[in-house]
Amino acid sequence: MTWFDTVIRGGTVVAGGHSAPMDVGIRAGRVAALLAPGAPAAGQHELDATGLIVTPGGIDTHTHIDWPYDGTRTVDGALGASRAALLGGTTTVVDFVPPGEPGYDLRRACHDRADHLGSTIAIDFALHPILPDASRPVLDALPDVIADGFTSFKMYTTYQDRRVDDGAAWQLMNVIARHGGLPGFHAENHELLAATLHEQETLGRLGASDYPASRPALAEAEAIGMVALYARRIGTPVYIFHISGHEALAAVEAARRAGSDVFAETCTHYLVHDDSVFTGPDPWRYVISPPIRGDQDRLALWAAVRSGAVTTVGSDHCAYATTSKSARTDDHRHVPAGAPGIEARTPFLWSEGIHRHGFTPAEVVSASSERAARALQLDGKGRIAVGADADLVLWDPDARWAGSDLRRSSPDTFSLYDDGKGQGRPRHVLLRGEQVVADGELTDLPARGRFVARHARMTA
Ligand SMILES: [Zn+2]
Repeated sequence: MTWFDTVIRGGTVVAGGHSAPMDVGIRAGRVAALLAPGAPAAGQHELDATGLIVTPGGIDTHTHIDWPYDGTRTVDGALGASRAALLGGTTTVVDFVPPGEPGYDLRRACHDRADHLGSTIAIDFALHPILPDASRPVLDALPDVIADGFTSFKMYTTYQDRRVDDGAAWQLMNVIARHGGLPGFHAENHELLAATLHEQETLGRLGASDYPASRPALAEAEAIGMVALYARRIGTPVYIFHISGHEALAAVEAARRAGSDVFAETCTHYLVHDDSVFTGPDPWRYVISPPIRGDQDRLALWAAVRSGAVTTVGSDHCAYATTSKSARTDDHRHVPAGAPGIEARTPFLWSEGIHRHGFTPAEVVSASSERAARALQLDGKGRIAVGADADLVLWDPDARWAGSDLRRSSPDTFSLYDDGKGQGRPRHVLLRGEQVVADGELTDLPARGRFVARHARMTA
């Protein structure tokens, strides 16, 4: 008889493109054995998974938890965000290190952010540092920052306060690549956006419903083409955050055909919504950049998520206070861009993927977890294999839910998903072997989330 801390019995394991009835033995927080159903094994805890589907925990590649902006912070806090994430089947997030003032200590900022989130978070997390410039202190800190496990980065090609120009992007990408890191971009051409916004200002068309027209898809396509070309010349992969529709997707695919190694991320809101939300109730809620686009864009993204052309799906979770998001809805320039959604990503991927877009459960798992772990080098995550972290979600494929049932990360924020409904919901969730959700309810949650330090890529 083999002994485990926990044995999950009677479920169907879906991972690595396969689906099979298997029992799972867990020891010391890791998967210790995959067993034939009913094989002799004993566990201190036994979890009945009859009728349930056992998958790796979800990985949200894009969150802004407890995020500083405009001299204040978003309202969720790491524990509130963790609770919403876990109930939605997400066990790991990749959040960001906010940029500092010119001359700031990048390495210090990275560790401060890891310590800050790590003190109260109940899920595992990695961090993408945001790089605001290619100044000497930033360039000089990069090798140590990468060696410390902060290996993927975000640069903005737009927003006056944090954009890097083309020369800075080129310099930063070279240094990141040389040390085995992964450069990533919020890719929208700054000058095109500025010209379009200027036109809107002239015409006085600045309401929330005018927002999508202020950021044309061409701006995304152009910037993606540029950074992908730089990446190809340097010989590094590049990660494109939050592509919003078919023009951005076409730019990614053209770059790949030309030989660029591009990881593309999209987000839940681009899959669930289309631009009709801007003529519906409370359109200010949907001010997110890049904008939510047309229905054909949405359908193209679903197909690309299924095929793998879109590598990852993040939530871009940013829990602004409802009062702050809705303060100036007559002028989209004063609506902070972004929305919460850490709770909705995996339930919508599962339900809409399987019931509307022809996904198998294995295809959902590939998109919600496995490809993220590979692209962002989260070793030990996104797998159900001996030695992997026992981050597991046991789905009830029959459970029906309404969007308004999904727990928000804070009562003071809003939702884009209240009107949705679906089928298939996490019933039990384990984080490194410990059951953190039981029968759809949170168990006691000490702050046991850990910072995941990642390894640099091998460089030539
Ligand atoms: Zn974001």
